Amino acid sequence: MKSLQEFPRIPLAVLPTSIQKLENISRLLGTNVWIKRDDLTGIGLGGNKVRKLEFLLADAKRQGAEIVFTTGGAQSNHAMLTAACAKKLGMTPILILKKRGVTERKGNQLLEYLMDTDVRFMDTDSYDDIYAEMDRVGQASGKKYYKIPCGGSNAIGALGYVNCMKEIADTGMHFDYVCCAEGSGGTHAGVALGAKLFMPKTQVVGLMVDSDPFEIITTRIMQETAKLLELDFVPTESDVHLVNMCGPGYAIPSPEGNAAIRMMAANEGLFLDPVYTGKAFAGLIKLAREGKFKPDDNVLYLYSGGAGGLFAIDVDLG
Ligand SMILES: *Cc1c(COP(=O)(O)O)cnc(C)c1O
Repeated sequence: MKSLQEFPRIPLAVLPTSIQKLENISRLLGTNVWIKRDDLTGIGLGGNKVRKLEFLLADAKRQGAEIVFTTGGAQSNHAMLTAACAKKLGMTPILILKKRGVTERKGNQLLEYLMDTDVRFMDTDSYDDIYAEMDRVGQASGKKYYKIPCGGSNAIGALGYVNCMKEIADTGMHFDYVCCAEGSGGTHAGVALGAKLFMPKTQVVGLMVDSDPFEIITTRIMQETAKLLELDFVPTESDVHLVNMCGPGYAIPSPEGNAAIRMMAANEGLFLDPVYTGKAFAGLIKLAREGKFKPDDNVLYLYSGGAGGLFAIDVDLG
């Protein structure tokens, strides 16, 4: 196995993030619920994408890129954090976003505006159209450019979450389960691979907030990451455990997600978001109520950020 230290990485996040016990929610759910504060990664409004960007932007710098492209929906946390991190490192971010979701100057659109970011919308449902547009704009600029896929979800980005699992293992704490939101697959892939390497007794659960074929997507990213790390095994679909919490659709609030947001706010003073962390935490609540967790189990929820999205909803969270 290659050591994580062998990969270029630019420190952008405040690490390690803390692990806290949710005393009130543990009591309500009848198991020990812990939270890993990846909402406090220290740039923008924090969030999981910063760990991926430490590796992705280091790769971009190593290749001499001046322009960094990425994509997502209008309220993509990943796009906002890519802009924040690229600006901090003196690179020029260009966001070519799907014209889907809340495009007005609210939530992450407001934050991108404040950072004076070049944001362009494309009226398409195909990321392939967007990647082609990145090449067109990049080539026309005459500068070196680097394309980060939607969500930063490729093998290099997933290294950030392999590293996160090492960070958790290094605390010496044992968790029976680690649960994380899954929107483009890179986080879950890194967490699941990192668990195999550093916390083999821990079961990882990906809580889907979109309805893509994540058994396939997650397995593929795990396999590519395993190859990058020169591991002597090939991850398979049996390494991927999913619960579908998408509800009415990606970025459309669900009643379970909204209830989870209010439960967390009213009991722990923490604010989940309607697109990712609320729906994902609703999945953890569902599993607890179905009796998946024993009273003395330790269940870690990866709180992956997303605050920007809370201020960009045009529907009632009731
Ligand atoms: C992107 C995102 C996720 C999901 O991570 P993926 O690696 O895209 O699956 C979870 N939570 C928040 C807040 C996010 O922005």
